[in-house]
Amino acid sequence: MDLPSPPARTLLTRALRLRCPVCGGGPVVLRWFSLVDSCPSCGLHLDRDEPGYWIGSYTVNLFLTEGVFAVALVAGLALTWPDVPWRLLTGCCLVLTLSFPALAFPFTKLLYLAIDLAFRPPEGHDLFTPHERGMVNKGARELGS
Ligand SMILES: [Zn+2]
Repeated sequence: MDLPSPPARTLLTRALRLRCPVCGGGPVVLRWFSLVDSCPSCGLHLDRDEPGYWIGSYTVNLFLTEGVFAVALVAGLALTWPDVPWRLLTGCCLVLTLSFPALAFPFTKLLYLAIDLAFRPPEGHDLFTPHERGMVNKGARELGS
């Protein structure tokens, strides 16, 4: 079974909606800091079966955080120049820089997956047959008895 290869814009849009970038299905976010192993709709393995795959998402998160920090700092300077409230600006930038990575966490994971899928379209080995968790144990028990 082949997975569709949507255009990059579609991949990124679906990722920003916290949906599977390939099929738009979901939900793929279990809790704010954890994703499902595979898409419940198309079966795409979200980590593409590669150890350390999510390191790339941390890079995306870091770049976005740096960008948000730069925009906040420049906006703060531009809006208050020449009487810049340095302590307030520093405090706001600090809070923003410390909280943004957590707030953007699932978005950056799925954005990284979308970027990766744009350059390396999904292949057969990225598929995982969707099943209910209990079915694996039930099948093993039936084989053992
Ligand atoms: Zn999917």
